[in-house]
Amino acid sequence: MSAPPADTLRDPAGRAVDVVGAGPAGLAAAITLARGGRRVVVHERASDVGHRFHHDFQGLENWTTGGDVLEDLASMGIEPTFAHTPFFETTLFAPEGRTHVYRSARPFYYLVRRGPVAGTLDEALKQQALAAGAELRFNDPVRHLPDGGIVADGPHGSDVIAVGYVFDTDAPNGAYAALSDRLAPQGYAYLLIAHGRGTVASCMFADFHREREYLERTVRFFQERVAFTMSAPRRFGGFGNFRPAQVVQRGGMLYSGEAAGLQDALWGFGMGSAMLSGHLAASAVVGGAAARYPAELRTRLGGLSRAGAVNRYLYARLGDRGYRHLARRLDAARDPRAWLRRHYHPSWVSRALYPFAAHALRHRADAGACLEAGCDCTWCRCTHDEGLRCRVG
Ligand SMILES: Cc1cc2nc3c(=O)[nH]c(=O)nc-3n(C[C@H](O)[C@H](O)[C@H](O)COP(=O)(O)OP(=O)(O)OC[C@H]3O[C@@H](n4cnc5c(N)ncnc54)[C@H](O)[C@@H]3O)c2cc1C
Repeated sequence: MSAPPADTLRDPAGRAVDVVGAGPAGLAAAITLARGGRRVVVHERASDVGHRFHHDFQGLENWTTGGDVLEDLASMGIEPTFAHTPFFETTLFAPEGRTHVYRSARPFYYLVRRGPVAGTLDEALKQQALAAGAELRFNDPVRHLPDGGIVADGPHGSDVIAVGYVFDTDAPNGAYAALSDRLAPQGYAYLLIAHGRGTVASCMFADFHREREYLERTVRFFQERVAFTMSAPRRFGGFGNFRPAQVVQRGGMLYSGEAAGLQDALWGFGMGSAMLSGHLAASAVVGGAAARYPAELRTRLGGLSRAGAVNRYLYARLGDRGYRHLARRLDAARDPRAWLRRHYHPSWVSRALYPFAAHALRHRADAGACLEAGCDCTWCRCTHDEGLRCRVG
């Protein structure tokens, strides 16, 4: 582990701004800093970008924006040079198995791939950061955080895990989600297929140690409901952090992305807020107004984070009843995408319930608590291997 080199602390004398982490938040920050005329050094502990991911599909969510998420990225100086497939239709299997198909004139989301290979979001952001003039240092873990830098080192805890397979297929493009505690306790399962590749996963908020059982049930469920072939399946696992109100500024350091706790607590859409927060942190640094970053972040993303936390709190309490209600409301909506936008939008209800939701999320029982030494489930591997503090004692 290394401390940032002395020549890369602070900027005013033309020295580099340090960014810790080359994920979407750190790379978006690097692009903005470099385009703003600052020298920037990104320290990444892995040997390349996207090491947390496995070439799996993720959805770049497109309903919380008034326009289109790709336009939002363009306004931050990020071009869609990554492979992206718009989805105007999505199928939801409600808890009792009923099928709901939703369509929208505008994409619900764009499927993108994650990982250290050509065509992924990670590789595209890396190339754009390099082209803008940022320096990327791989195999360079930072233990002592830089003063005056941007911290974008990803989740600081694991509240949710996703386990799944990536595979090849000859099935047509399609996006499917299933809400059922049998497949993904308190969470959701998904099947995403685009251009001959697929990802199927169970994203669970509880009962982590039975991940294999849930994953196999998830695969069986989708194979029964959606005819698709799975060749060359590769298993993967990942984790996320949903605890609200994390530190966003400490001294001269600005936190962005999941490191700042920015993550959609309901369904885990974190890429958009990672890139936006990285961009906002970097803009504040470029403008010499780092102290204004927390307020700017609250204005742009605070309401959304609060609404996400409240939605998660309510669905966790209501269980399958809540998901059935959600499916019925979406059925009744003339424009399901617009309904989702309202659902994610801050309201007096989310303001009133947020203190309860935040308390519940912060003090959530450790659903994945280690029961035995040497357990190799995703939660245990992530909390230990990733250097996160094991909250089990
Ligand atoms: C399985 C799975 C599915 C997901 N699906 C979706 C989805 O469909 N849609 C969506 O929007 N989001 C999804 N997410 C969430 C999304 O991937 C994250 O929110 C997003 O990647 C966060 O970006 P980040 O830059 O904050 O953190 P990260 O992507 O985690 O990047 C942080 C980087 O910092 C590096 N790092 C860590 N510590 C150090 C250190 N000490 N020194 C140097 N470098 C360090 C890490 O190696 C990493 O490269 C999913 C997540 C998972 C796990």
